[in-house]
Amino acid sequence: MQPLSDVLAQVLQRCVALPPTDVDPRLARRAVLAADVVAARDLPGFASSAMDGFAVRAADVAGATADLPVVLEVVDTVMAGRASTEVIGPRQAIRIMTGAPIPTGADAIVPVEVTRHSDGQRGTDETVAILAPSGPGQHLRGAADDIAAGTTVVDAGTTVTVPLVGVLVALGQPTVSIVPRPRVGVISTGDELVAAPRGLDVGQVRDSNRPMLLSAVNEAGAIAVDLGWVRDDVDAVAAALRAGATRCDLILTSGGVSMGEADVVKMVLERMTDPRWFQVAIRPAKPFALASVDGVPLLGLPGNPVSALVSFELLARPAIGHMAGHRDLGRPTITVRAGDGLTRRPDGKTHYVRVTVARDATGDLVATPVAAQGSHQLVATARAHGLAVIPDGDGISAGGPVDVAVLDAVAALAGGRP
Ligand code: AMP
Ligand code: MG
Repeated sequence: MQPLSDVLAQVLQRCVALPPTDVDPRLARRAVLAADVVAARDLPGFASSAMDGFAVRAADVAGATADLPVVLEVVDTVMAGRASTEVIGPRQAIRIMTGAPIPTGADAIVPVEVTRHSDGQRGTDETVAILAPSGPGQHLRGAADDIAAGTTVVDAGTTVTVPLVGVLVALGQPTVSIVPRPRVGVISTGDELVAAPRGLDVGQVRDSNRPMLLSAVNEAGAIAVDLGWVRDDVDAVAAALRAGATRCDLILTSGGVSMGEADVVKMVLERMTDPRWFQVAIRPAKPFALASVDGVPLLGLPGNPVSALVSFELLARPAIGHMAGHRDLGRPTITVRAGDGLTRRPDGKTHYVRVTVARDATGDLVATPVAAQGSHQLVATARAHGLAVIPDGDGISAGGPVDVAVLDAVAALAGGRP
């Protein structure tokens, strides 16, 4: 058996970051930036009002009170989207809306809430009564006070977040250099599988791994490519893999990599470049294959549904993240208290026990194994919030610290179902 870390290192060596490409920033969310983003312009690009109110000279309104208002002549009105051509002179004001450029001569905004419209006529002789002072710069957004032109916004290697999409668009970046999302093909093999929505004969099972893994690929941020189901036939599997390699950056198979006689994936991969068979020192998901199909890396996951999922989490998810340029691979891990049932016997393997995470009476997060831990028992796994990592040995007695790779962060951190 090989340690998971050794197998993962070999996987990452073959599954390297894809060459960068330029995309519209509106399509860049979750992608990893391939180059630093440097602001090409100031943000904001001009000084503007932060309030609806009046642009004034602070010195004019310094002594204003509700009892003794300062009355100013209103010489213009400026809405967001245009600039006033007027210059504010002594004891003059311009009515201004949020986001409108600060008129020349003004250095403060008086919010409309602390003004009273005077009785003067509308037009040039209109006046406003200012009921409170506004100091220089008050209620005013300075040019470049978010970022100045020439400053680095974020470094290469950063993942594009939702607000960053807004920043890139606000900066007027027509394109952004990113590591593209890998196209990941998923194929199922097995004579016993039924992909169509029809009744099953004795011995048949539904091809549930393929839709499950396609969903996992999608959740991992990659483009899922359905490569279909193939019979346990060496030529048919070989042809399907070759076809898949023409349109994918990575191929995932499930099933056919164990020790059985009908493990056709194994036979086919023997014909491909540099196939490697692993007995990974983990439970579940011990069998695993790594190969190349016409230069495209292939990960052979085990067929049992829980094993396929765990193998995906521990090997395929990091591979996809690596190809997409991510530095942090795999799931985030939290350390919680062990509930009952996390003891075990030494067997040379790290166990990945499917657990729920819930708060106990003291508010601590506690990991408890789901009832069924068989590698075919996907229903129990579907109820789990994470994978508790139990190193080789006698396990973790109740109350001890245990690391959990979080599959469902919302359920796990909210306290989950008991
Ligand atoms: P194998 O490694 O091909 O011998 O498969 C191991 C177990 O996983 C068998 O019980 C298969 O029926 C099951 N299995 C393999 N592929 C799939 C699949 N795509 N969907 C559901 N079960 C599968
Ligand atoms: Mg099979």
